[in-house]
Amino acid sequence: MLSDRYGRVATSLRVSLTDRCNLRCTYCMPAEGLDWLAKPHLLTDDEVVRVVTVAVGLGVRDVRLTGGEPLLRRGIVGLVERLSTLTPRPALSLTSNGIGLERLAGPLAAAGLDRVNVSLDTLDPARFRAITHRDRLDDVLSGLASAAAAGLAPVKVNAVLLRGVNDDEAASLTRWALGAGYEPRFIEQMPLDAQHAWDRAQMVTAEEILGLLRAELDLEPDPAHRGSAPAERWQVYENGRLLGPVGVVGSVTRPFCGACDRIRLTADGQIRNCLFSRGEVDLRGPLRSGCDDAALAALLRGATQAKLAGHGIDEPGFLQPPRPMSAIGG
Ligand code: SAM
Ligand code: SF4
Repeated sequence: MLSDRYGRVATSLRVSLTDRCNLRCTYCMPAEGLDWLAKPHLLTDDEVVRVVTVAVGLGVRDVRLTGGEPLLRRGIVGLVERLSTLTPRPALSLTSNGIGLERLAGPLAAAGLDRVNVSLDTLDPARFRAITHRDRLDDVLSGLASAAAAGLAPVKVNAVLLRGVNDDEAASLTRWALGAGYEPRFIEQMPLDAQHAWDRAQMVTAEEILGLLRAELDLEPDPAHRGSAPAERWQVYENGRLLGPVGVVGSVTRPFCGACDRIRLTADGQIRNCLFSRGEVDLRGPLRSGCDDAALAALLRGATQAKLAGHGIDEPGFLQPPRPMSAIGG
């Protein structure tokens, strides 16, 4: 088992397949992009499969592929296919901006992908362009439709609300997503942008998100057990009619570190025990110098053991991690 000093057990592994992206969301990376990792530094498909196999042997039951934009990784379908043959078979999910899903949703589902989260912050094309610096809203919408058609359910739609930019869309995004059969989730903006421009005062808090939703819709707490899920869930009603569930991820103001069950593998083979950790454990070096599975397992155990109790964003000494979200794997 991958347990830590606070009694938490890591059963979920987020695997970043690339740090590259075809969007430039303002809260994530600068318009000009970043210095991408050089190809030789990226884990190969064989190396990713090897690490996940060892992690599954240590109790990991959920594997989420992310990035950067994971659909930019060539061979992602084959990778999913290989991961789906592991024993016990982990649940396989993907977090994507949706570009390319129109083409890939079917093949990914056939290869064994179970679920997908697609990030979409606005339904307005001009705002989409302003937030992402690209004119790709239609691609995201067709990607979402293909994901649903391929049975990658539940299809979740992740949105980050930005003050004065798209914070008037909380209710309309929720209505639209539920009407289309997707599950909307709103995520507080975190200090993980490459530009280090995050400003607490600008963050739309979970409390505010709920206020924006309640201004137009009725919310009832979801009775389902939350477990280690980062999202608090509500059931949404309008004029007495149930529309479906909405999630709010209050990573900053309502941290869920006490129930965290995650560890992360970066595209260049570093294990991170938290999005906000400042340290990493290198697996790429050992992988390439011929270490055996027992040594890899020991490195995974050690990285998990070192996990801190919380992310510490509210502590006076908090320092943003050196790598941005797109390089860690969101
Ligand atoms: N490119 C894919 C995508 O956008 O879904 C996967 C990687 S992205 C880093 C994963 C998630 O992190 C997205 O839902 C995105 O909105 C979110 N994200 C990125 N930067 C963030 C930030 N500073 N605060 C909160 N969420 C952020
Ligand atoms: Fe790309 Fe996702 Fe970052 Fe947007 S949030 S720039 S889609 S990695």
